[in-house]
Amino acid sequence: MAPETKSNKAVVYAAPGSSKTSIQYLDVPVPSDGQILVKLTHSGVCHSDLGVCLQSWALLPFPTQQGQVGGHEGVGEVIGHGPGVTEPSIGTRVGIKWLADVCNTCPSCLENDDNTCTKQKISGYYTPGTFQQYVVTSASYATPIPDGIDSAAAAPILCAGLTVYSGLQKAGAKPGDWVVISGGGGGLGHLAVQYASRVMGLRVIAIDGSSKEALCKECGCEEFLDFMEHTDEELEDKVKKIANNGRGADAVLVVSAANKSYEQGLKLLKPQGTMVCIGMPEGTPVPIQSAYPARITTQQFRIIGSAIGNRREALEALDFAARGLVKCHYSLKKMEDLTQIFDEMTAGKLQGRVVLDLS
Ligand SMILES: [Zn+2]
Ligand SMILES: [Zn+2]
Repeated sequence: MAPETKSNKAVVYAAPGSSKTSIQYLDVPVPSDGQILVKLTHSGVCHSDLGVCLQSWALLPFPTQQGQVGGHEGVGEVIGHGPGVTEPSIGTRVGIKWLADVCNTCPSCLENDDNTCTKQKISGYYTPGTFQQYVVTSASYATPIPDGIDSAAAAPILCAGLTVYSGLQKAGAKPGDWVVISGGGGGLGHLAVQYASRVMGLRVIAIDGSSKEALCKECGCEEFLDFMEHTDEELEDKVKKIANNGRGADAVLVVSAANKSYEQGLKLLKPQGTMVCIGMPEGTPVPIQSAYPARITTQQFRIIGSAIGNRREALEALDFAARGLVKCHYSLKKMEDLTQIFDEMTAGKLQGRVVLDLS
């Protein structure tokens, strides 16, 4: 039996283009073929939610709809099945990611690249997301949450953790290699520093503002550089002094959404190094001036884009967190706080991650 209607508390985007949100009581959705009904307890708040709410991403194909329920880092318990669905069983904890579902049959899906599936459904953008108490989602695509991690701590792993874990896999770095994490103290960055140092055996140089230094060091970086205190040339000089006897870092992971971080990134790499592009700059797209062909050719750089990650990587990222190797630093907030959270995110004031308590 589905719970009674209009008892689904949600926070919706009240005026897309601004950070205005409002609390609404919606119908409890009914799962259809292939779907499960999930009673959510927690949802992380991601920078991408802000991008959807503010419509600040040039790459989103359609305007965000008024009344959209955002959110894509949701954790909860299966409480209902659509017709014919038996798994995951009632009571199982599951997570919902940026991609709520994919088609499983297109060429991208067959290459295990869910992110470019042409029929993908994005949680919190045209598909009702996880800033609500009840959500229906794909029975086969929902992510099982392992024991050993509480739901609030698991939520940010579903996007932030998965995204940086997948990006680090693509960096091609091996234990002992130096990696620069640009934006190391943010929601993604502090997880990247931990996956890099504690899971993959990499040596981490974190770059961020001085207020993030303590967090970055706690997360396992060996060296911290304050980008506010140094010019680009000084940063380059310092990274090269630290890494590989003056040659530079083996890899640079840009998780910051600042165009400037990309501009700096290549300057910090050693020849044949890899820059992994993860942070999504907002507004009008800006080319990376330092990434001109003659330079990439002679230095034999690799520049790789990475967006979220696949299902296997999600399970791996969660497993490391459940085993205690990676811990998300988060603060619990109420659904009513979402606009304020978005405004603080815009101002760059957040440390670590914010998780909404949906109860
Ligand atoms: Zn996200
Ligand atoms: Zn597909």
